[in-house]
Amino acid sequence: MTPPAGRYPEEPSPACGGGLGGGGSADPHPGPPPRAGEGEALVTLRGVGKRFASGTEALSGIDLSIGTGEFVSLLGPSGCGKSTLLRLVAGLAEPSGGRVEWMAGARPRIGFVFQDATLMPWASALDNVRLPLRLAALPRAEQQALAAAALADVGLAGFERAYPRELSGGMRMRVSLARALVTRPELLLMDEPFAALDELTRNRLNDDLLALWSARGGATTVVFVTHSVFESVYLSSRILVMSARPGRIAEELAIAAPAPRPPGFRTSAGYAAMCRAASEALERAMAGPARQALDRAMADRS
Ligand code: ADP
Ligand code: MG
Repeated sequence: MTPPAGRYPEEPSPACGGGLGGGGSADPHPGPPPRAGEGEALVTLRGVGKRFASGTEALSGIDLSIGTGEFVSLLGPSGCGKSTLLRLVAGLAEPSGGRVEWMAGARPRIGFVFQDATLMPWASALDNVRLPLRLAALPRAEQQALAAAALADVGLAGFERAYPRELSGGMRMRVSLARALVTRPELLLMDEPFAALDELTRNRLNDDLLALWSARGGATTVVFVTHSVFESVYLSSRILVMSARPGRIAEELAIAAPAPRPPGFRTSAGYAAMCRAASEALERAMAGPARQALDRAMADRS
């Protein structure tokens, strides 16, 4: 599935987040760094908060660390600040408090996949995937070869000339994934990319994404946002469970299962048990202070 080594440019502009500046800081931090799952911490968030101009406090006191090569899911209810957190990591927004620190002192090459495929409707699949390489001013022949290889990686060989309207929702998302992967990002940020797809398509994309990630042998770190317990357990090596707004990291679960997942994993007792544990963690996170106050108020009335 992986194209031959050396076919990708060494330092193309990132598909997203390029030129947006690193969040690194030379300031020593007073406390111990939050734990990364495995490997050296690629990115560390220290006391990160986000309050919008409207006054909405989306995130508060986020401390987390993500190791190189990890596949981490951010699991939380709608509106808890998952997208906001991902945008802060991507450098698409600035935190209003705290710091985002990078291993190398600067933001690495980042790929971003949104919930909608966000393809250019007037451009072929190949031209859509070629876009980040065109922005990086790579020679045209190289753009073509790399984009075709990325399309083949996501199972779309033969669809290079197809337009988005000619593709199914799942295939459009595959094009979007290929566009994010074509620059060989060190960090892949995915914001509920499969939420709008039917279950079968979503399951296939989950398997293919895990295969692509495994084939990169730890060279790509993934942060995957979802509100699906099942998806978070199926995909990740670690789940960070977020509480309701303002979002905080309420709990963390390690998922010990081989990647890609073995046949039958989805219907195994082990998977069911891990889903139950994640579901209970999410329930606890959602029953935060606001819910507890409501429960108390209801109890007083009865
Ligand atoms: P999630 O992705 O978990 O559903 P978001 O990060 O999109 O949550 O949003 C968290 C909260 O911040 C929500 O209450 C949302 O309405 C608010 N919010 C998000 N973006 C903005 C913005 N640009 N301006 C003001 N409020 C925002
Ligand atoms: Mg969101």
